[in-house]
Amino acid sequence: MTGRAYTRCMDGHWFSGATCPNDGSESEWSREVSDAAHRLGTNDVSLSLLIAAGLSVEASRHVLIIEHDLASWPPGAPIEIIELHEDTR
Ligand SMILES: [Zn+2]
Repeated sequence: MTGRAYTRCMDGHWFSGATCPNDGSESEWSREVSDAAHRLGTNDVSLSLLIAAGLSVEASRHVLIIEHDLASWPPGAPIEIIELHEDTR
């Protein structure tokens, strides 16, 4: 299994890497995650690896790690995340 770290841009897109492929924006969190992954020398990450590489606790709250089998899910494949909100009516 391989882990990929995703963060969200201001427009709500989840992406892996420093900049959002949809609009080129980056966030404080995406930069931190990207820097930590760079220090690790791999994009195959887990939350504990990222924290060991210096990711701040605050940034760790804004990261989504998805583990997947590369044989069935090529790196860079787009993901769509549907957020579920509690019904507050
Ligand atoms: Zn975006």
